Amino acid sequence: MMLSEAAIAEFKASLRGEVIAPSDSSYDAARNVYNAMIDRRPRLIARCADVADVMTAVKFGREQSLLVAIRGGGHNAGGLGVCDDGLVIDLSPMSYVHVDPRKKTVLVGGGALWRHVDHATHAFGLAVPSGIISTTGVAGLTLGGGIGYLTRRYGLTIDNLLAVEMVLADGRFVTANAKENADLFWAVRGGGGNFGVVTSFLFKARPVQTVYGGPMLWPLEDAAEIMRWYRSFIVKSSEDIYGFFAFHTVPPWAPFPEHLHNKKMCSIVWCYTGAMKKAAKVFRPIRGFKTPALDLAGPIPHPALQSLFDRLYPPGMQWYWKADFVGTLSDEAIAQHIKYAEKMPTPQSTMHLYPINGAVRRVKKRATPWWHREATWSQVIVGVDPDPANKEKFSTWAKEYWSALHPYSAGGAYINFMMEEGEDRIRATYGKNYDRLAKIKKRRDPTNFFRVNQNIKSK
Ligand SMILES: Cc1cc2nc3c(=O)[nH]c(=O)nc-3n(C[C@H](O)[C@H](O)[C@H](O)COP(=O)(O)OP(=O)(O)OC[C@H]3O[C@@H](n4cnc5c(N)ncnc54)[C@H](O)[C@@H]3O)c2cc1C
Repeated sequence: MMLSEAAIAEFKASLRGEVIAPSDSSYDAARNVYNAMIDRRPRLIARCADVADVMTAVKFGREQSLLVAIRGGGHNAGGLGVCDDGLVIDLSPMSYVHVDPRKKTVLVGGGALWRHVDHATHAFGLAVPSGIISTTGVAGLTLGGGIGYLTRRYGLTIDNLLAVEMVLADGRFVTANAKENADLFWAVRGGGGNFGVVTSFLFKARPVQTVYGGPMLWPLEDAAEIMRWYRSFIVKSSEDIYGFFAFHTVPPWAPFPEHLHNKKMCSIVWCYTGAMKKAAKVFRPIRGFKTPALDLAGPIPHPALQSLFDRLYPPGMQWYWKADFVGTLSDEAIAQHIKYAEKMPTPQSTMHLYPINGAVRRVKKRATPWWHREATWSQVIVGVDPDPANKEKFSTWAKEYWSALHPYSAGGAYINFMMEEGEDRIRATYGKNYDRLAKIKKRRDPTNFFRVNQNIKSK
């Protein structure tokens, strides 16, 4: 459908935020997302300053029959925060964070990044369970579930969500919590951006300030032994210990010693949130199992741990993602892991196993859309490189690695680690919760207005 100049002019005039069109000099910067492999050209980008702007943008999108994408932090693997030839509702100006230290709650704008939240909460000795990197958007990560350093102790990010405010496909602004619009509150805790534009999130905050964490690195030759030890340690250890396992190449900069630069290694990145005076004792058996080639674990402010990998993974690189949930890590699976770790094609390509046990299990499978609560890990294989010329090389590696490991997986994958993989994979991810999501989708978004996402087909 043709968009008239008059309609665009009226839209611009009715917004407090900016409307960016292809002719504007800021267009390329505004349409770019974190994954540089995504190159989409929307017709308009509405940078919403407040809820009124979001309501106007939804109405405009509907009246003009535009495809609509919602952008939070722009980090999504498959680039679902931007679309071709449609309208992007960009919430990045709405990045406020209000901490209530008395109630221990945090109100966060729909366009905030986790580093904004970490900055605001740290001053009060609090944190909201999120991921492992500070540049990710609060909205996309939360709406997909949210896995990170505090998961074993305090659950997924959605398990710490108390309420949302959102603009629905029909333009209405609603609050959703356990009592009000409970169907929506259930659906947004894992169902992604399918149900509306979330303009604010209210979280429960946890008492986390300085943790004992950081990476321990071992040579690849020790990886099988480390993985066999880790697979039983991380299911038995107390919930105040988190450690995700990674294969990676050591970056050529401090604090990594020169003799390790550019070496392929394995590591466990720890985050212990228990009493600091007990930390040395807690880590004694870990260090005692096999002395790491490099041990960087120690007391660290939570926001510093959260931003430890920001330099390694700046925006603007090419990313190819493949994911699965994993229940058990067999010796056969470990052998495949080692085979592909030895072939990591580029310095930033990696494989992570994020534990999702502990507190995650205490929430029932039907209590939120997030079905795979009995899995032990969320596994992600990512081919990453700054150079688009290497795309074939790193995406082939990721696909082959994933195919070799998929037979050992638990079915489904974390939606936030998936690119576009089709309906079967989405169904496998939501398991028996899919039908309920589909019914809510039909009631709340019958025309599938919000469809630039891991789409739920209405029932
Ligand atoms: C380097 C890196 C590290 C990561 N680490 C982790 C991690 O540790 N743990 C983890 O759980 N995930 C992690 N992720 C995955 C991350 O959760 C997803 O990429 C997530 O989609 C990012 O959210 P965003 O708001 O930045 O995304 P965007 O690209 O802006 O949006 C993603 C999706 O969310 C929807 N959406 C965004 N904002 C809104 C809104 N306000 N209302 C409604 N829908 C909205 C959009 O429709 C879109 O489908 C990581 C990603 C990257 C790139």
